[in-house]
Amino acid sequence: MDHRTTDVLVLGGGVIGLACALELLRAGRGVTVVERARIGAGASHGNCGTITPSHAPPLAMPGQIRQALRWMFTPDAPFRVAPRLDPALIAWMLRFAARCNARTFRAAARAKGALLLAARAALGELVARERLDCEWMEEGTLGVWRTGEAFDRAMWLPPLLRELGLPCEVLDGAEVRRREPAVNDSIVGGVFHGRDARLRPERYLESLATRVREAGGEIREGTTVLGFERAGGRVAKVRTTGGTFAARDIVLALGAWSPKLASQLGLDLPIQPGKGYSITFPHPARAPRLPLVLKERMVCVTAWDSGLRLGSTMEFAGYDERLNRVRLDALVRAAREYLVEPPAAPAVEEWYGWRPMVHDDLPIIGRAPAASNLMLATGHGMLGVTESAITARLVADLVTGREPAINPTPYRPTRFSW
Ligand SMILES: Cc1cc2nc3c(=O)[nH]c(=O)nc-3n(C[C@H](O)[C@H](O)[C@H](O)COP(=O)(O)OP(=O)(O)OC[C@H]3O[C@@H](n4cnc5c(N)ncnc54)[C@H](O)[C@@H]3O)c2cc1C
Repeated sequence: MDHRTTDVLVLGGGVIGLACALELLRAGRGVTVVERARIGAGASHGNCGTITPSHAPPLAMPGQIRQALRWMFTPDAPFRVAPRLDPALIAWMLRFAARCNARTFRAAARAKGALLLAARAALGELVARERLDCEWMEEGTLGVWRTGEAFDRAMWLPPLLRELGLPCEVLDGAEVRRREPAVNDSIVGGVFHGRDARLRPERYLESLATRVREAGGEIREGTTVLGFERAGGRVAKVRTTGGTFAARDIVLALGAWSPKLASQLGLDLPIQPGKGYSITFPHPARAPRLPLVLKERMVCVTAWDSGLRLGSTMEFAGYDERLNRVRLDALVRAAREYLVEPPAAPAVEEWYGWRPMVHDDLPIIGRAPAASNLMLATGHGMLGVTESAITARLVADLVTGREPAINPTPYRPTRFSW
């Protein structure tokens, strides 16, 4: 068996692992990334690529449980829990439900809003500094509604976003169509989020990987982490299918797989896989210029010069690897309802990914309580692309002992009672 020593070993080749690897290399450290399959094999490949400080309000909000129960009986609803007697899922759901009250919601929205504003700025800087070729566009996103009732019900959100320092504009149907002619006459209103941006996630991953290699980092694809050996309060060795590694520092960035590996170190990470789907098409003639959220259907539409993607759904179905046809079809149906020219050409790719969901909607970033040389960078839920650069900066600060760019306290792994 091959034995290797490396300075920093990053576990996981998604957006979080690669962004951390690059930031650590720029801080003067040596880095090896190990990835089970290939770069972007997890959630980081086929996601919608929207960069959304506008998603500051957490999922756990008053009324959410009632809505979720209603959706459980609708096969193509954007949210579903596959009923299972899984103690970890039940514990996660109970912790989530306990947060669905007005006081916790507002406090969480403030914490998340501050993180997302810092995240948005850090990502813009990373893309510019590293000249990442990823179809970056920072012209905002647009939420659009087809029914007056749902639009009116959503009008509590803009004042909250403004309070959090996030500008947004409420638009009537005519103004939405003027700004985004790709939506059809059924649209009654919209909200424009000017701070939001977008990129093409596959391109972002590829250009991060290129910069990591150029900076002297090594990326070992097809290398699965099997387990750990501990000694003296540290992780002494990481066993992989490509040999055993010893490292001065280890960054665990395994997305939705994180709890499986972390449990070997006695860490009970409250992360559930939140499965989402996407379908990618060639670029249609009348694609939306701005990324859209089709609000009643909770479907995201992102168009780049290189294609168009529909993405959505949040399924708590464990580590289920099947593509659900009902959910994929629901994405296309939604596009037909809202767009002048819905995608008609055969799909280029049908995809699912597991979002690493934490019940308090904040990532887990910081030193693991179980091992002094292990840094956790996981649990980014629906916002891992958005939060990738700020996570990388914080991880590099904590690993190298620099003054942290943001206050690490809200994201510390010890915020949960183990
Ligand atoms: C439908 C959908 C749409 C989304 N849209 C957006 C969006 O618009 N904006 C946004 O910011 N976020 C979005 N997200 C969320 C985003 O995709 C995730 O938060 C992000 O990709 C998580 O990145 P990660 O690096 O932590 O995890 P991953 O990308 O899942 O990476 C983890 C990696 O670890 C590897 N791995 C697993 N086990 C092992 C092992 N034992 N050994 C070695 N390697 C291993 C996996 O192969 C994987 O490559 C979306 C997600 C989905 C599903």
